[in-house]
Amino acid sequence: MSDLQTHIDRLKPLLEKHSNRGIQNLIGGETMAARLGKTFATASPVDDSHIADVTRSDASDIDAAAKAAKRAFPEWAAMGAAARKKLLHRVADLIVERAEEIALCECWDTGQAYRFMSKAALRGAENFRFFADMAPAARDGQSLPTASHMNITGRVPIGPVGVITPWNTPFMLSTWKIAPALAAGCTVVHKPAEFSPLTARLLAEICHEAGLPPGVLNLVNGMGEEAGRALTEHPDIKAIAFVGESKTGSAIMRQGADTLKRVHFELGGKNPVVVFEDADLDRALDAAVFMIYSLNGERCTSSSRLLVEHSIATEFQARLIDRVKKIKVGHPLDPKTEVGPLIHPSHLEKVTSYFDVARKEGVKIAVGGARRGETGCYVEPTLFLDAKPDMRVAQEEIFGPVLTVLSFDDEDEALRIANNVPYGLAGYLWTNDLTRALRFSDAMEAGMIWVNSENVRHLPTPFGGVKASGIGRDGGHWSFDFYMEQKNIAIATGRHKITQLGMG
Ligand code: NAD
Repeated sequence: MSDLQTHIDRLKPLLEKHSNRGIQNLIGGETMAARLGKTFATASPVDDSHIADVTRSDASDIDAAAKAAKRAFPEWAAMGAAARKKLLHRVADLIVERAEEIALCECWDTGQAYRFMSKAALRGAENFRFFADMAPAARDGQSLPTASHMNITGRVPIGPVGVITPWNTPFMLSTWKIAPALAAGCTVVHKPAEFSPLTARLLAEICHEAGLPPGVLNLVNGMGEEAGRALTEHPDIKAIAFVGESKTGSAIMRQGADTLKRVHFELGGKNPVVVFEDADLDRALDAAVFMIYSLNGERCTSSSRLLVEHSIATEFQARLIDRVKKIKVGHPLDPKTEVGPLIHPSHLEKVTSYFDVARKEGVKIAVGGARRGETGCYVEPTLFLDAKPDMRVAQEEIFGPVLTVLSFDDEDEALRIANNVPYGLAGYLWTNDLTRALRFSDAMEAGMIWVNSENVRHLPTPFGGVKASGIGRDGGHWSFDFYMEQKNIAIATGRHKITQLGMG
């Protein structure tokens, strides 16, 4: 039997479970439907088949979840860090135990290839372990003595928080937000993306099974404009951690204004990979291909713009064409597949609309440029050549397996092109000139830069973007800065003279 058939056979009973009972909310430790009984259908981008009916929540469901999170907060915040650490490690253990189930469901629900999703599920467990180990130090602070006072500073959890996640690698991304929030002592209401509800439900079940007290993690499914909006407006929710599109981030900022929400945004990107002629071109080619065509190009840190030095452009592009033509598009559960179907027909329409944009803008479509097949959301890995920096294909986030190539004559021009977009999430630089690497990295407008490397994430480092790519940072103590408040307690150390009023 082929590996694909084995995966399909293993997935079938897992899907039956979801389709039989539907994907419901988890509020205060109870699985429940929406108060008004509404649902929406979720389908697989592999073959458009129905997967399950999903709870369509409204403001009253969000209210119930926010109240459950508020009730659970004092006890969770006061729990000893060692106990919290143990519980979060238990969550990680259960994720590992169910990693195959998570990976199979994620592939079917999102179209992502198994070769990447099997690792993403385990990465979710690592996120929990990393923040579990950080929990005991989360409240640490310092003492700042003066002649009259001892100031004791420390952190306290901010309260119940809302986590709103997108559909790209949804399981891994959710753990990245939820694990630090729980480790900090916050309780959580999670609103996952409507296109990818399966693994959010699995995560909620796992946390419940691991022994998280009721109300510590609540799951509320629904639409962005309905359930998502209500979460951002709820007065009991103190902060919103959001991952998604830049324009949704702006909307959330407006929605949260009346209740003065703290926000953390991880938004879109149009990240450059800049290749100079002195670089190790074999490795640069591998990285450029990997960073745009892995994860179906539905990746915030994808290198969707390739800037290549003019002197090497012809040869580098020829090798690129060859590689892109050989990318294996196929069923996401086939371990050989490199690019699976896009998340949803509406996203397929968005991505393919850029093929027409490219044609109108006079860009050369060297590879791809079409939908593949009639069923499912498959698209050809696509390569645009000879683009100009101000063209839409060089400015806008396409969020699919589509690479736009531009060329430059010198370092100044490369920098101008690299920075000439509204976004500033990540940048990739290929050169063997150390001083140029430092100079260029310093001037590139991006929150994260990799030199002579693809994106390799180290959890203690800050993750996030500048400009329209985000506000705030994830990772290590940066995550705690968001989920916690700094508090200062000043204690008089003697009988200093207090200025007296009302003494006549
Ligand atoms: P999206 O903004 O459409 O939706 C994200 C989430 O927000 C969903 O859960 C959605 O239901 C919810 N939402 C929508 N409108 C809302 C509203 N008015 N109020 C509250 N919630 C609302 O994004 P998407 O299409 O799901 O995801 C793709 C985007 O995410 C891309 O732009 C990508 O670059 C970005 N992203 C960024 C990062 C990062 O780290 N910077 C990581 C992953 C994805």
